[in-house]
Amino acid sequence: MIKKFIEKVFGAGRVPKGKPAKRNADGWRVYTQMEHGIHRDDLSQAAISVCDGLQREGYQAFVVGGAVRDLLLGRHPKDFDVATSATPEQVRAVFRRSRIIGRRFRIVHVMFRDETIEVSTFRSNHTDADANEQNSRADEHGRLLRDNVYGNQQDDAVRRDFTMNALFYDPSREEVWDSVHGVADIQSKRVVMIGDPEARYREDPVRMLRAARLASKLGFTIDAATEKPIRPLSPLLDNVPTARLFDEMLKLLFSGHALSGLETMRELGLHKGLLPVLDKLFDDPVVSPFVKLALQRTDQRIADDKGVSPAFLFAALFWHPMVARWRELESRGVRSLQAMHEAMDETLEQQRKTLAIPRRLDPMIKELWIAQPRFLQRSKGKAYRLLGQPRFRACYDFFELRAEAGDADKEVAHWWETFQFADEHVREGMLLADDEPAKKKRRRRKKKSAAGGEAQPPVLAEANSGNGPE
Ligand code: ATP
Ligand code: MG
Repeated sequence: MIKKFIEKVFGAGRVPKGKPAKRNADGWRVYTQMEHGIHRDDLSQAAISVCDGLQREGYQAFVVGGAVRDLLLGRHPKDFDVATSATPEQVRAVFRRSRIIGRRFRIVHVMFRDETIEVSTFRSNHTDADANEQNSRADEHGRLLRDNVYGNQQDDAVRRDFTMNALFYDPSREEVWDSVHGVADIQSKRVVMIGDPEARYREDPVRMLRAARLASKLGFTIDAATEKPIRPLSPLLDNVPTARLFDEMLKLLFSGHALSGLETMRELGLHKGLLPVLDKLFDDPVVSPFVKLALQRTDQRIADDKGVSPAFLFAALFWHPMVARWRELESRGVRSLQAMHEAMDETLEQQRKTLAIPRRLDPMIKELWIAQPRFLQRSKGKAYRLLGQPRFRACYDFFELRAEAGDADKEVAHWWETFQFADEHVREGMLLADDEPAKKKRRRRKKKSAAGGEAQPPVLAEANSGNGPE
């Protein structure tokens, strides 16, 4: 694989070891098609059209960032971004179907039938007051608050995070431009920060999460100097807006490499504030198998091109913290149903302090949680009511995941697997088998409450009878 890549990038034996790379007058190493091996056909037609259109008007225009990195690695890019010397207004004037978006960085979306290309003007990352006091400011930790100062192509390369992300591809000349040793770092599978790593993390602490995410997604190692400041600087993530952290975590969780991404985050000490549950993910005998399985299944679904639900994964990640809180409240005498509702609200609010999990996910997360004890109730009315719930399948998948991980009764999961697909006749037979014990229990409960003991709501009473979500 590596050999093939080296051959692809340099041609077999084209660049003898140790020979300094050729550079153009501005200090860029320019790789020809023969050297880098990217074919124009591997790009989207829309990205090519945008570059061609801008170049025709006399502007510089390149495909940049993750797409060039992925093309060099022989991967199919998720999307194509273009960087140009044209200002947003100038880009807007070239393409009829385009619009300027964004406040912090103004970029242009150029729309095609089934694709949108993001076009950004070359930017610079100067933090010194002279550069442009209006547009480039840092907070007391060095975090950039605004960085929409325009610059030239070289500025645009060095304001990017890692060397592998700072490559420019010109589709018309079929050249890759590299001023930061990025091609060689991709070749040796290394994540290397451009410039002084500590200062770059201070400017934008999210780069620490990006290092973890990209390393696990690409199977790269993080260069020692790039890794070193991460652990000590990890508390800086506390100053990042929670919505941005949520976006970045979502990228990691749905990268197709969630498990290894979280492992890397933990190794780097990045999870403490963000996802404290990760402390238990790899050690706790109860939490670990369940959360790992949830992550593995998410990765598998992405590999199979199947849909994934953020609510489902967050419900899984926070299930055990919620149950622990629920049990705690119960042990303090709060009635079970009320305790569960309080525990759900508290768990989600607690998490929102670090990750801005959108409130619109709450109803779905709660629905999955609330359904769990109901799977233990297999008497006629209740089983049919649960089955008739609009999102029964997701709730069942959650229960089945728990069963598979040893967190719920496998036999009960199997019963539901059969029940949901069985015909009426078979179902009736199954229900009878369960109806008797349920009736007996109800009678017992009645007796107990008549004798002065507190009657529990039936849903959770069963959940507490041994098969509950401990
Ligand atoms: P992915 O394949 O997951 O999309 P990506 O590297 O393309 O990875 P994007 O978030 O799409 O990630 O960013 C596009 C490009 O913008 C990056 O390749 C990098 O050059 C630049 N970039 C993104 N985030 C930062 C950042 N926090 N600091 C500096 N440059 C960044
Ligand atoms: Mg990208």
